[in-house]
Amino acid sequence: MVSRRILLIDDDPTFRLLAQATLERAGFEVAMAGSVQEGLSAFSSFRPDLVLLDVELPGEDGYAACRAIRASGHADVPVILVTAHDDVQSIETGYEAGATDFVHKPVLWATLPYRINFMLRALDDRRSLSHSERKIRTLLEALPDSSVLVDRQGYITEHFTGTDSGARGSLVGSRLESAYPAALAEAVRNFMASIEAKEPTGRRTHEYADVRDGKKRWFEARFRPQPDGTLLIVTRDTTERRKAKARIEYMAFYDSLTRLPNRALFVREAAKSFEQVKAADGLAALLYLDLDRFKRINDNLGHAIGDDLLRVVADRLSRLARKGGPNGSWTIKVARFGGDEFVLLATGLMEEADATRLADELRLCLAEPIDCGSHQLVVTPSIGIAIYPRDSAEIDDLLVKADMAMYLAKDRGRNGHAYFGQSMAVRSLGRLAIETDMRAAFERAEFRLAFQPKLDLTTGVVTGVEALLRWDHPEKGTITPDRFIPVAEETGLIVPLGEWVLREACAQLHRWTLKGPRAPTVAVNVSVQQFERPDFVDMVLRVLKETGTDPSRLELEITESLLMRNVGETVSRMRRLRAQGVAIAIDDFGTGYSSLGYLRQLPVSALKIDRSFVKDLDRTDDGNAICAAIIALARELKLTVIAEGVETAEQLACLRRQGCNEAQGYLISRPVPAAELELLMNAGFDLNGPGSGARGPAEPVTAAAPARRHGHS
Ligand code: C2E
Ligand code: CA
Ligand code: CA
Repeated sequence: MVSRRILLIDDDPTFRLLAQATLERAGFEVAMAGSVQEGLSAFSSFRPDLVLLDVELPGEDGYAACRAIRASGHADVPVILVTAHDDVQSIETGYEAGATDFVHKPVLWATLPYRINFMLRALDDRRSLSHSERKIRTLLEALPDSSVLVDRQGYITEHFTGTDSGARGSLVGSRLESAYPAALAEAVRNFMASIEAKEPTGRRTHEYADVRDGKKRWFEARFRPQPDGTLLIVTRDTTERRKAKARIEYMAFYDSLTRLPNRALFVREAAKSFEQVKAADGLAALLYLDLDRFKRINDNLGHAIGDDLLRVVADRLSRLARKGGPNGSWTIKVARFGGDEFVLLATGLMEEADATRLADELRLCLAEPIDCGSHQLVVTPSIGIAIYPRDSAEIDDLLVKADMAMYLAKDRGRNGHAYFGQSMAVRSLGRLAIETDMRAAFERAEFRLAFQPKLDLTTGVVTGVEALLRWDHPEKGTITPDRFIPVAEETGLIVPLGEWVLREACAQLHRWTLKGPRAPTVAVNVSVQQFERPDFVDMVLRVLKETGTDPSRLELEITESLLMRNVGETVSRMRRLRAQGVAIAIDDFGTGYSSLGYLRQLPVSALKIDRSFVKDLDRTDDGNAICAAIIALARELKLTVIAEGVETAEQLACLRRQGCNEAQGYLISRPVPAAELELLMNAGFDLNGPGSGARGPAEPVTAAAPARRHGHS
């Protein structure tokens, strides 16, 4: 075999001597040069198979020589740069100049011949490739993945850089350990050992981190044994994929608005916390926090402001959590459960009452006004508390209980806290009793209707009434619908009950019509559950017909929540009713999320301003603004606007000033039986009277009032 020729370009005579001795002993034919100039002329005369080139040469440096070789007619001759530097910069410059590989000084003379042999063999292989092999190689080179072939000794014999590998030079001839991170080399060794042992149990893939261009990147290596005993390792840069995965995981467990953990993460973490608390025989408090009237802020000031507010609240809660509670010794986790609901889990408490101190601290930390753009907002929380393990040992159950307690806190006037406790168990027991009693009540005819008048604010005449359901319980007395309607809705009893109300109201309406031309219109409340039944419209039309009622005297009151559901279907049902002359009012308006856009589509005839806004009317500017806005909106949409819950003359005056059409409330009359309503209608109502109080038998008119007004008896 002809010996291969190596050209050695180095100005250091000692190095030249050692290199020459080593290489010649290994069977190479060696030529030497001491400068770039000499080297380049030797390159063309000696025609080496490989060049060993020192970087630091007198005059022009080794990079220049390398570039000159690459520009020559024998560009594919491997050039190994000999360098004292192993800094990234000089290696990069070397590769850019076209170097095939590097050896560092001091050179490991024993391995140098092997490295050179590998490189030459790879070159030979490449030169002797068949057409199809060449095609495969071209293909591998074009792939983004980088691939190497490793022989049994752990040397890299082939290397396809791939398009995505950050342009590293050829690794041919290097040991796996020096080309890749130790963990990958180890994984490869294990895999090869398992192949060798003929029980391929080793993992076929391995993920590892590596530094490229000073940045940490992630790679996935796949191992594929080849028939000739070598191993193909295909590596792919998975950094972006990992980042995307991390982003997705983040989104699945964190709330994007506030960056707080979400429900899923919180529940998982809470379960872990409980294990520790249990082991330490301690207790934990779960606080369910809901911002009072947040929805109103959102609806009136817009979602952007609402979002800002939630972020500030989240920040304050996180800060408080980091602080560790009032005495800094508790571990507190915070999460956002969506909307304006936040949940905190505190562990490390000494006693149950500690939760009260945390709740107070929470209210304090939210009390400071929040700047949102041009608005200064004050939010207050209602907080429900459940205690582990007293109330439950299960996180889901505990959450339900804390949530129930939160509603109790709201019932008690908001901006406060309530514990889940006995009272609530009693309440839910009461609920059960209601359910069984209600079925019997239907048969025993314990339900009846009360009627509350609606006053026309321009004429002072009662033109309509609202039918309100009452349950005269044989033992408990009269039960108001707030207690039993929700139960009826849950149990489905609302459907027959609702139909009964409608029939009863229509029958009454018919009786009034027979009595004279001044019969009022009658409004009937309809539950979402009722309205959503496919036969709802048919049922209404049938009842109207059977009771002989003029459809144009009937009004149906539907809450805003209905509008959020199936809009298309809702609109078509409403149209059918409207086509028959039945009026439709949106009840409790302002408490839902309905947008102006929705309202425009809906064939409704009236809006009823929720009484919570009317209540604020003579007390806060806020209340005033909301009523004024709803009235203006109704006028724009050409809808009648009715204010509910009017209790004071000031509220009434205010509503009249703002142009509200009708008013309903205790000031005018409480809901009364039909017979009493007739008296009331005949009595009329003095719109301008000072302290004009409720009329009618429910709160009888005192004879003194008009007398005082006229100044004499
Ligand atoms: P709603 O439709 O908002 O009815 C008005 C409620 O406000 C009535 O309570 C009425 O008594 C009360 N109210 C009227 N004026 C005043 C006032 O000046 N001040 C205060 N504080 N309250 C006033 P009620 O009769 O207890 O009914 C409660 C709710 O139960 C109703 O709210 C309605 O949503 C539902 N409801 C009543 N009857 C029926 C019915 O037949 N079917 C259905 N589905 N729901 C009904
Ligand atoms: Ca109503
Ligand atoms: Ca209402």
